[in-house]
Amino acid sequence: MSRTAYLNGEFLPLDEARVPVMDRGFLFADGIYEVAAVLHGRLVDNAGHLARLDRSLAEIGIRNPHTAEEWERLETDLVGKNGVREGLVYIQVTRGVAERDFSFPKGDVAPTVLMFTQEKSIVNNPMAETGARAITVPDLRWKRRDIKSVALLAQVLAKQQASEAGVAEAFMVEDGVVTEGSSSTVFIVTKGGALVTRPLSHAVLPGITRKAVLALADETGLSFEERLINARELPEAAEAFYTSASAFVMPVVEIDGKPLGDGRPGPVARRLRELYFAFAERSEA
Ligand code: PMP
Repeated sequence: MSRTAYLNGEFLPLDEARVPVMDRGFLFADGIYEVAAVLHGRLVDNAGHLARLDRSLAEIGIRNPHTAEEWERLETDLVGKNGVREGLVYIQVTRGVAERDFSFPKGDVAPTVLMFTQEKSIVNNPMAETGARAITVPDLRWKRRDIKSVALLAQVLAKQQASEAGVAEAFMVEDGVVTEGSSSTVFIVTKGGALVTRPLSHAVLPGITRKAVLALADETGLSFEERLINARELPEAAEAFYTSASAFVMPVVEIDGKPLGDGRPGPVARRLRELYFAFAERSEA
């Protein structure tokens, strides 16, 4: 059975969904995207994802075509039509179709709205049992990484490097400090037992999973520090993990070929992964 997509007000077979070549998303990567997880057929922590979508659109001056309630209804309908029990919903909004010109089009150009779903096994991902391996790469991105832009070339190249190295994720490094994963937020646990992640700024995407994980750590009395992580701290860390809507909490057991701790997923990462599952199952949408 063909997958169903949503494009500009219409549900249609994914392989029939077409966007004109003059779409500014295609020509300029002039658009925003968002990804939320689906567990047991329900959206996980979706209010946070929709708030970030709204903020990203506002930051680049694209009118949000839907209220949060409308988005959620459309996403839920799409998840239902595709029968997704576990996986992802992808949303993309671009500035729309117009004659090619760098500055924004004049007049009322309708944003292009696309959504599709992907089935993915998140909870029973075998990699979470063994732990993921990562490499460090230079962060080649622009200076507003807090905006979830569809301009992802630096992340594509980072992930390709990871893939060629046979590992799951690339941790991006700038001026000697870790910014984030190519599609995730980086955490470490120091040998002293401190849980550390980088503070929010224009340099990183405000991860929705990051926020939930920090709240869960707080609730369970696990203290954390928001500070910069020097790349030199990585091989010395007792544990590392990364978070994202598509991986939840993923323990990391090796960075740049060097095992962390005993080379197995650490207790803090495992505990937070469990807590996040329970949190995701409580998600209402
Ligand atoms: N940083 C980057 C660069 C990402 O692409 C992602 C994945 N969207 C994240 C962090 C994690 O964000 P979230 O937890 O909201 O998926």
